[in-house]
Amino acid sequence: MTRIGMGFDVHRLVPDRELWIGGVKIDHELGLLGHSDADVAIHALCDALLGAANLRDIGYHFPDTDPKWKGADSRKLLARVIELLAEQGYTLGNCDITICAERPKMNPHIPAMKQQLAAAMHCDENQISIKATTTERLGFTGREEGIAAYAVALIEQVSVVS
Ligand code: MG
Repeated sequence: MTRIGMGFDVHRLVPDRELWIGGVKIDHELGLLGHSDADVAIHALCDALLGAANLRDIGYHFPDTDPKWKGADSRKLLARVIELLAEQGYTLGNCDITICAERPKMNPHIPAMKQQLAAAMHCDENQISIKATTTERLGFTGREEGIAAYAVALIEQVSVVS
């Protein structure tokens, strides 16, 4: 069986935080605020994967009230999500992520992001698409108050778990 899921996430841009997107640290004067490393692209992807498997959402599995996830590397959350799916007999088909940010430029970092996500998910880079767009200076992303990400994931059930 093939199933599809979507995810969406937003984090606020603030001073004195590192900017982590798609498992890559990007040089910028602002970083994303959050309980974990606030990797907006990975969080959207995790929700797409969990949604495809009907396994609730990232906040359900990794609550921001749990000190265990404070400053957490989101690549570890993603690896755990893939494990949760594997426990239900699911494997990744492909995923597609769109990052909405006015600045900094995402495109130079996309090959490194794909490498990071493929390593975390134990899949081929060809199964991962990452795209970036500005929002033409409109809205909170356009005003550089935050960064948003959307993701779609397709998963396949390779074994039936009773
Ligand atoms: Mg998030």
